[in-house]
Amino acid sequence: MTEGAPGGCWAEIDLDKVGHNYREAGRLLAPGARIMAVVKADAYGLGAEQTAQALAEAGCGDFAVTTVAEGLALRRSGLRGNILVLGPTLPPEWPAAAESPLALAAVGLAHLRQLAQWAAGHSPVRLHLEVETGMGRTGLLPEQAAAAWALIRDTPELRPEGVYTHFARGARRDLAYTERQHARYEEFLRAYRAAGGTVPARHVCNSSVFLERPAYHYEYVRLGTLLSGQWPFTRPFPSPGLTLRDPWQGKARVLHVWDAPAGARAGYHSLYRARRPTRLAVIGAGYAHGLGVTPELYPKNLLDFLKITAKQAALLAGCRLGGEKPRWQGQEVKIAGLIGMQLTILDMGTNDCRVGDEVLIPLRRVQTGYNVERCYTKDGRVVEFRRI
Ligand SMILES: *Cc1c(COP(=O)(O)O)cnc(C)c1O
Repeated sequence: MTEGAPGGCWAEIDLDKVGHNYREAGRLLAPGARIMAVVKADAYGLGAEQTAQALAEAGCGDFAVTTVAEGLALRRSGLRGNILVLGPTLPPEWPAAAESPLALAAVGLAHLRQLAQWAAGHSPVRLHLEVETGMGRTGLLPEQAAAAWALIRDTPELRPEGVYTHFARGARRDLAYTERQHARYEEFLRAYRAAGGTVPARHVCNSSVFLERPAYHYEYVRLGTLLSGQWPFTRPFPSPGLTLRDPWQGKARVLHVWDAPAGARAGYHSLYRARRPTRLAVIGAGYAHGLGVTPELYPKNLLDFLKITAKQAALLAGCRLGGEKPRWQGQEVKIAGLIGMQLTILDMGTNDCRVGDEVLIPLRRVQTGYNVERCYTKDGRVVEFRRI
């Protein structure tokens, strides 16, 4: 039972496990490489401030986020160390970022030129050059390396600290595309050096490529998924002795129970029907909190497509296939019918479930709303609540 936990639902986050994952990943680093912890999207739902703090305590000094707002929030929380904003930024955001300071990504030649004009005679800007190698999103092309160096050479306020790229297919079994992206990245480095530039810290790996290609570790690897305790592949991967611990657990409290007679219907569209006398428990969690919400699924092959389609078809019959189920006192229990906005019904069978009982629920961390309180534990004790 979580002392002080609110009603409804909440997420429990074990900060010791965040530190554990950081140390585990550290064992696989190539000599000279360091971990840049990606704590974007509220540290994948775990809570950016608390996660970054736990990582800092484990020895991490480098962090990355997607937006300036995320970086500024980390600074306000008292985080020292380097913070890189990986996403594209706009001129109105630069003064606060430079003052904080946050390092900014130059995501195109026009963007870099604008940054240089703004910085000139104004304020130093810590800079990472992003190279577009096949993600097709943001970055300088290898053909623009010399022009990028010329801008940096002529603008002493620009402080280049890194050159990086991002892989589009790093979690695939076949890494041919990743290797081509890497070759384009090297092309940028060669052209930059040939123009007279000194290449600062290099970083290309996310979690999957970090595991697959030690030769790409360079000065930094950017890890998010692994630190958050998740495996970056859906396929089996020969783990090099890496033990990840999942710091995240969704929980909900039983707010109401009723004993449904055989034949009773429950929930929207009356999709659920009790086959025999059944205790139904209502928990304070639903779509609004992220229960049952999944990201857009991308079928990787025909079999995958058929599986996804079968799951959808089963829902028509009120049957939820696959996926993690809620657990009550260690036993799996079924969701009765459709998940509601903030209330969901569980089929407890003949279990003697009571109002106030805790249920473990499968909440996807990134989809879990800010309206879900986070409860932080350390050494098995609750140390903080992030209230809403
Ligand atoms: C999210 C992100 C990462 C981290 O990726 P994981 O696979 O979660 O480790 C690294 N680099 C960039 C640019 C990212 O956007």
